[in-house]
Amino acid sequence: MRASWQERFAETSDVLKSAKHQQTVVRVQTVVRVSDIEIGGSEFITMAGPCSVETEHQILSTAHFVREHGARILRGGAFKPRSSPYSFQGHGLAGLKMLAQARAETGLAIVTEVMCEDDVPLVAEYADILQIGSRSMENFTLLEAAAKSGKPILLKRGMMATVEDLLKSAQVIVENGNPNVILCERGIRTFDTTLRNTFDVAAIALLKQISHLPVIADPSHACGHRELVPALARIGVAAGADGLIVEVHPNPEKAWSDGEQSLNFAEFEEMMAMLEPHIALRGAAIGKLLETVG
Ligand code: PEP
Ligand code: MN
Repeated sequence: MRASWQERFAETSDVLKSAKHQQTVVRVQTVVRVSDIEIGGSEFITMAGPCSVETEHQILSTAHFVREHGARILRGGAFKPRSSPYSFQGHGLAGLKMLAQARAETGLAIVTEVMCEDDVPLVAEYADILQIGSRSMENFTLLEAAAKSGKPILLKRGMMATVEDLLKSAQVIVENGNPNVILCERGIRTFDTTLRNTFDVAAIALLKQISHLPVIADPSHACGHRELVPALARIGVAAGADGLIVEVHPNPEKAWSDGEQSLNFAEFEEMMAMLEPHIALRGAAIGKLLETVG
């Protein structure tokens, strides 16, 4: 790592690769373990599912489908941070119970958002990974409470947050005794409003160089249009991401949230097949690196 980055990110030393690590080719990496799943390990991990948990049929059919096509983790919001107060806000506890049922039926691990510190114990009872949403990235009391739950944390980059801000929030979680942080690039707001957000793929490459934490790409929120999701997923793999989080819905046109950017089942299947050679290349590169190290 450049000395200038080391200086710039000095306040977040717990989430940075150390100067010593920089001088070796060793793939210094935090591996977050969830049951038999390793995030940040050699396997590329796909998290997939609807934006919101809507009905039992919706979440169960999606869980079975994405598992059959390579996903290891089921996503789905029970507590939804919506831009409009009049939009669906999530089913809360009932949604968490549906996620637990999906886990019981499929063996998939569950990642779901927690929006406020009071809900942390409840969400942690059901989730395998707590998602901190973009809008909450700098809610430090929430970060502390989530960290203390002991559950792995998927920390989404705030839509107006710099890479430095993201690392500071990660540092807060680690400082509160929880080393299991997964960073997520989900697009940021820029002058260009053509798409929902601007996918900051350079941030993925940068984070992989300077931080030992796993990095996940969210191609769905990054662009807001399902047609572009597979291309962005491919770019995420190429940039060095450790996995993906992607929205999938049995009937996106009827989705209660984020239907525009959700893949239907056939599109998800096609995307996973398309990604295979790219994921294999990534695996070969990691293998080579480990071989060099001996
Ligand atoms: C989501 O994952 O559905 C979500 C609300 O994401 P973000 O916090 O990145 O907007
Ligand atoms: Mn969403």
